[in-house]
Amino acid sequence: MTERTLSIIKPDATRRNLTGRINAMLEEAGLRIVAQKRTRLTVDEARAFYAVHRERPFFDSLVTFMTSGPVVVQVLEGRDAVARNRDIMGATNPEQAADGTIRKVFAESLEANSVHGSDSPDNAAIEIAFFFSARDITG
Ligand code: GDP
Repeated sequence: MTERTLSIIKPDATRRNLTGRINAMLEEAGLRIVAQKRTRLTVDEARAFYAVHRERPFFDSLVTFMTSGPVVVQVLEGRDAVARNRDIMGATNPEQAADGTIRKVFAESLEANSVHGSDSPDNAAIEIAFFFSARDITG
């Protein structure tokens, strides 16, 4: 089924000028970038986006990292886009990520792991609406 998912190219990757190489991997995996913008998250935005993790010990560090530089937020579209993107991203911890995945190739650490991707279709809808209006997305 054609789906949409939210992807974020994180500050460790924008700092190393990897946006194009990551986008190429997404496109080669069959995903279409149907909306994209470069922005810098405020602390309030990062805290709200990751609110599900607010009780975790790494929350403050994660918010500091996600606001440490620009991000590229994007809507990806394709067949089973949520799962497909999670596949090409690789495991959260790059040491456990499969060969050829974005995190295996590019991540610096468990925290600075280069990309975010929605983990379910329901969360994808919520996360897309966090950053984009329908008018911003051209399929
Ligand atoms: P994801 O869905 O694969 O991004 O993983 P999670 O939803 O579990 O975690 C969200 C993000 O928090 C991850 O992508 C990492 O950037 C960061 N993170 C997860 N676990 C840890 C941890 O144990 N320590 C730190 N410092 N960051 C973490």
